[in-house]
Amino acid sequence: MGQIVGRNRSLRKLIVIVLVGSGFLSFAQSKNAQSPTFDLVLKNGRIVDGSGSPWYRGDLAIRGDAIVKIAASITESAGRVIDVEGQVIAPGFIDIHTHARSGIFQVPTAENYVRQGVTTLIEGPDGSSPVPLKPFFDRLEALPKSVNIGSFIGQGAVRAAVIGNANRQPTAEELEKMRALVEQGMKDGAFGLSSGLFYVPGTFTPTDEVIDLARVAGRFGGIYISHMRDEAAGILESVKETIAIGERGGLPTQVTHHKIIGPANWGKSADTLRLIDEARARGVDATIDQYPYTASSTSIQAALLPAWAQEGGRTEIQNRLKDPATRAKIKTETIRIIKNERGGGDPKNIVIAGCGWDKSLAGKNLADVARLRGTEPTIENAAEAALWIVENGGCSGIFHAINETDLERILRHPATMIGSDGEIPIFGQAHPHPRSYGTFARVLAVYVRERRTISLEEAVRKMSSFPAQRLGLQDRGVLRPGMRADIAVFDPARVRDAATFERPHQYAEGISSVIVNGIVVFERGAMTPSRPGKVLYKRQ
Ligand SMILES: [Zn+2]
Repeated sequence: MGQIVGRNRSLRKLIVIVLVGSGFLSFAQSKNAQSPTFDLVLKNGRIVDGSGSPWYRGDLAIRGDAIVKIAASITESAGRVIDVEGQVIAPGFIDIHTHARSGIFQVPTAENYVRQGVTTLIEGPDGSSPVPLKPFFDRLEALPKSVNIGSFIGQGAVRAAVIGNANRQPTAEELEKMRALVEQGMKDGAFGLSSGLFYVPGTFTPTDEVIDLARVAGRFGGIYISHMRDEAAGILESVKETIAIGERGGLPTQVTHHKIIGPANWGKSADTLRLIDEARARGVDATIDQYPYTASSTSIQAALLPAWAQEGGRTEIQNRLKDPATRAKIKTETIRIIKNERGGGDPKNIVIAGCGWDKSLAGKNLADVARLRGTEPTIENAAEAALWIVENGGCSGIFHAINETDLERILRHPATMIGSDGEIPIFGQAHPHPRSYGTFARVLAVYVRERRTISLEEAVRKMSSFPAQRLGLQDRGVLRPGMRADIAVFDPARVRDAATFERPHQYAEGISSVIVNGIVVFERGAMTPSRPGKVLYKRQ
């Protein structure tokens, strides 16, 4: 980076010398005098700068890809002036947990995110990333896109690449291979190591093995971010494990999409937050991210089958389901999970988000599916329906089993930032979780404006400077001269999420302009043709 800047500078010097030599200096000067001082000025804003400080009135000027001036009134010439008429000017939102990997290539505008004010997406969460990362980054570099994008390196993907989905410890040689893959990921520019210890094969990983790999990420300045082993009955043990991995691995650690699953566990956020506070008090750099919904989303198989039943590949799982004794054991566990965990005690709480093999199932709940199969919608029959779904190739699901009190308590915590856990859907296709369309707008509408759970400035901090600080993005996330010009302009009285669980394909409203690297990507209700998004790499 420094080299390129240096080269540009010497090139510029050379041009000046050539111009002077050829007697063109006066021409160049007069041309300079005619070109405007700034490329773009946003006038009459309420500036919420991302730091958490109260808003103030001001104008903001952009030149190239950078913010160059913020003042009460900017009067110098500008290529373009937008009067924002008292709306909020905030840093573009940074989403630290997205599943944008395939969607970004199908919808490079990431319109569902941009319309929420999001300007940076971080991929590779939950232990799942491309391994190696370099070819993925190369494809992203070649892709004209509206938003910035970066990635973690995934522990589960690294383990799968070396020892597959087997439930066993690695040999010394395999462990060395995994270390090397994490190191390569960090050298390629990952922001840290993600894990999904709830999923196969993450769930087969002993804590010490995770620590071993987290240490490698830490050496390169990365963080550890984890979809924990258990977000239901074992939530406290899981938070302790996440803290221990940061503490013993010597790197910042983050509980991702923190939630408490299952009515039997509701209320435990008081204890999980106390654990985080205690860890921070003794010097462990532990933080949280969260999406503002009382339902989660993942595959039916991952959510409703015990981990041991998911070991190995598809054939092994199918064979277990074919064996009557093993099937009965799996079903007992699935019934328990529907009763006490992701099902929240009622098959209606489990809604199909999408199935490749039968698109008509999207939007139906597990009670509906039981009925479609000619059975009564009991928990037992819903478990049977879930196994039938897995046998047929699986579906993604939405699980209503989180309560509002836990959600708000976690949101209020100063060490909690916002992350969507969403994807880039194809508009109108399947029945995704509304978080992909609504997360950031929903925080501003429901939890700032309606319920006053947190202030506007605090919400913006949780969406901008805080994730930027976590990722080590030192030139984004705050509105200050010298920072990259990633900006969201919105009306705080009108901003809202429109996507619902019933009708998820609805863009957020009330965001009026979005600027990425100094270029307007969204205004007057539509995406512009500009694609100024960059691939972001961890700076070491
Ligand atoms: Zn997750």
